[in-house]
Amino acid sequence: CMKNSSSRRRVSPLAELRVNPNPWVSEAKALTTFVGIGTLLGLITGHLGVGFGLGLAGFLVWHFLQLHRLERWLRSPRSRPEPMYGLAEDLQFHMSRERHLQRQKRAQLAKGLKQFRRTAGAIPDGMVLVTRSGEILWFNPQATELLGLYPGDLGHHLNHLIRNPEFLRVFTQAQGRGRDNANSIEIPSPLNERVTLEIRLFAVGKDQQLLVARDTSLVHRLQTMRKDFVANVSHELRTPLTVIIGYLETILDDESLTLEETRSLLEKLDRPAQRMRLLVEDLLLLSRLDTGTIPPADECPVVEFGAIVRAVGKDCEYISAGEHHFEYELAPQLKLSGIEQEIYSVASNLMNNAIRYTPAGGEIRVRWRALEDGSARFEVTDTGPGIEEQHLQRLTERFYRVDVGRSRQNGGTGLGLSIVKQVLRRHGAKLEVTSTLGEGSQFAAVFPASRVLIGVETGPMEGPDRRSFHRA
Ligand code: ADP
Repeated sequence: CMKNSSSRRRVSPLAELRVNPNPWVSEAKALTTFVGIGTLLGLITGHLGVGFGLGLAGFLVWHFLQLHRLERWLRSPRSRPEPMYGLAEDLQFHMSRERHLQRQKRAQLAKGLKQFRRTAGAIPDGMVLVTRSGEILWFNPQATELLGLYPGDLGHHLNHLIRNPEFLRVFTQAQGRGRDNANSIEIPSPLNERVTLEIRLFAVGKDQQLLVARDTSLVHRLQTMRKDFVANVSHELRTPLTVIIGYLETILDDESLTLEETRSLLEKLDRPAQRMRLLVEDLLLLSRLDTGTIPPADECPVVEFGAIVRAVGKDCEYISAGEHHFEYELAPQLKLSGIEQEIYSVASNLMNNAIRYTPAGGEIRVRWRALEDGSARFEVTDTGPGIEEQHLQRLTERFYRVDVGRSRQNGGTGLGLSIVKQVLRRHGAKLEVTSTLGEGSQFAAVFPASRVLIGVETGPMEGPDRRSFHRA
């Protein structure tokens, strides 16, 4: 076994070579040997001169043979060292060492290059190295994705490939500036108009520039969303506020108002004030849902969802005041593991929407059942006006309403379904909406099997602070 492993181990060619501490002495020894043998033969045969000459000639032939071997060894770079003697052996040793060092350096360089390629490939930004005149020297795979550069573009001028005028201006400026870094600019990607790229240029030494391209579309989208959100919130708050200010001005300006009249005007402030409160509460709840996470299923309390639906149903029936017909089909043993207040808001928002959008005489069917794959489905189906296909995808966007006037009229903040969506996301559940215009809609929350419990005993339900989740 030991023999095997040692024979498999790669032996450095240097290990097979001896260092000759004094090659010239070896040469002298060889010369003495050849000439000595020649002279001896000359003495024996009586031709001393011929013997001496033959000895010298023999030494020369031996030398040529050594040189021939050395030359053969040098010509094939991968050959093993040959047995040699004297100067040839010394030369072979030094050349062999040189070869070995070079091979090591090459291997190190190749390793470094591989490492660099791997690193450059892992960076999410596109990187392009160009000469001062703009010729492409190198780029990473992300530059292909973001800027559309292909291996065939190597050696071409970057400013012929990216034709954006703003880019050309900054690129030319940066070339002129030499060592200074150019400012960053934003341009649409040459591959896709909708992708925004931030481009920065860095000087690399005196003669090269590194271009770094980063996809900033997401940041832009987020900025736009934030601006829209702030605008929406301000708009939503301004409307009731204007009404409140209007009534207050009337009360303050008109000194002839009787107590009765003042009271009746003050009562009118209630609705817009309530509306503002609802809006602020929904906003606070949304921001709470946005930032926090909830514990995993096995660490969450058991929620009696059926009981919650019955409680919300009672409230809804009270608000409906007999205008709608309610039907329930609730699996009694089916429970959830989650945050009760949040799950309450799902039932409350979906069922309240159903009565708010369904005209009098309509029917509201509520179902809570287990599905075959272990998940559980909460369904609210109404016979309301239905929703056009084009709106379905956007219903859960903040402040998105199919009919703004109608939503406001029945006390909607435009945030109910966004809250539902966030709560469901936190519980690993999803919202499914189907609707037929003129016939009705169905909003369903599907909870994953991991959060579904069947027949688990729980203590008496603690009353959650429902008011803050209740929109009616
Ligand atoms: P809102 O406070 O306006 O009701 P939501 O986020 O709860 O806000 O709902 C967003 C929009 O979805 C509503 O404005 C309405 O246009 C539509 N919608 C929600 N539920 C229903 C439903 N049951 N029937 C018809 N349209 C609905």
